[in-house]
Amino acid sequence: MTNCVSILGATGSIGRQTLEVVSQLGIRVAALTAGSNVERMAQQCREFCPELAVMATSQAAQALRDALGGQKIRILSGPEGLIAAAEHEQADTVVTAVVGMLGLQPTLAAIRKKKRIALANKETLVCAGELVMQAAREYGAQIVPVDSEHSAIFQCLMGCGDRREIRRLILTCSGGPFYGKTPQELQSITKADALRHPNWKMGNKITVDCATLMNKGLEVIEAMRLYALPVQQVDVLIHRQSIVHSLVEFRDGAVMAQLGVPDMRIPIRLAMTYPERAENPADPLDLTTCGALTFAEPDVEAFSCLALARRAAQRGGTACAVLNGANEAAVELFLREKIGFCDIARLVRGALDTVAQIDHPDINEILLADAAARRAVAQAL
Ligand code: NAD
Ligand code: MG
Repeated sequence: MTNCVSILGATGSIGRQTLEVVSQLGIRVAALTAGSNVERMAQQCREFCPELAVMATSQAAQALRDALGGQKIRILSGPEGLIAAAEHEQADTVVTAVVGMLGLQPTLAAIRKKKRIALANKETLVCAGELVMQAAREYGAQIVPVDSEHSAIFQCLMGCGDRREIRRLILTCSGGPFYGKTPQELQSITKADALRHPNWKMGNKITVDCATLMNKGLEVIEAMRLYALPVQQVDVLIHRQSIVHSLVEFRDGAVMAQLGVPDMRIPIRLAMTYPERAENPADPLDLTTCGALTFAEPDVEAFSCLALARRAAQRGGTACAVLNGANEAAVELFLREKIGFCDIARLVRGALDTVAQIDHPDINEILLADAAARRAVAQAL
């Protein structure tokens, strides 16, 4: 059970939902961090009185100081601030809810301080999953996934003492807003179309990833790292209703699944309370009214990002960092309306084809691969 948290990315979708759970459970807040949203951060600081608040830039930090007037909160900025929040001595759990590769160094810092990691920031595990998991083992830091699919698998594996009993993991995927569309139809997708997700309300980057199915590709890699399984043992099934959050098939043919309403506060709550479970005041799943549950194969021809992620996973080494870096850069360009929807997969494929990849990278080699992937995207433009 968590007594005190640091939340990296407190003003975002996961961050805000974490604060709701934290206030219901009476958990204290040691540190909050955000990018540029001073107004929301000031509001959160007034409500939760963290010891430390961190903004991305010194200008934003100054604006937060001005907004908070005399309130006694230490305010820092930049990557050093994020690390200070991750290492905060009062926090026993660190919620990693920033977007992208940016979460890597603070996650490693928190692991070295033996914090529990409530892991939402999947890009970190995609880029450097082997190093992160190795560090967690070395320092005895627990990693509890917040991503709904991985939380489902985590729960299905409670009581499984021997990983050899797992035949495969089955990640469910809503299919996103463009399920069933042909490659032709995908050509004309706009930013506004892509930001409309049928079942979940999330930050912009992950919402675009859900539309391209890159999110599921990243989640396949996240699952491989968390559960130390090869890519061949991680499958994906389209499940439009987002009620079955994922499944585990065991070698005797038994299949375990975790079900629930699509509400991120459920996996967040478990990441806070594990190994216990806490009362949830929200309405539970009603199977008599939720309608039929359906399952189908994903269309990897139309949604090639999923296939690209599998290819990177198979290649290993720095390939997943290249995949992720190129995707982050391409999604940013798409959100700035500089490229079309189908260009995202094209640019990621280009980066995987052209950036040199190496085996058994250290952290610096991963950072270099990430930078090279971003350059490859910029050049291909
Ligand atoms: P979001 O965009 O809503 O929030 C991101 C947060 O990071 C914000 O608080 C933002 O201020 C902060 N941030 C941005 N730049 C920063 C910087 N330079 N320094 C410090 N903080 C900075 O994103 P989200 O939807 O909450 O997703 C967060 C992570 O959780 C992502 O990795 C995503 O893949 C993962 N995730 C999200 C969901 C979901 O339902 N939203 C589900 C599963 C996994
Ligand atoms: Mg997910």
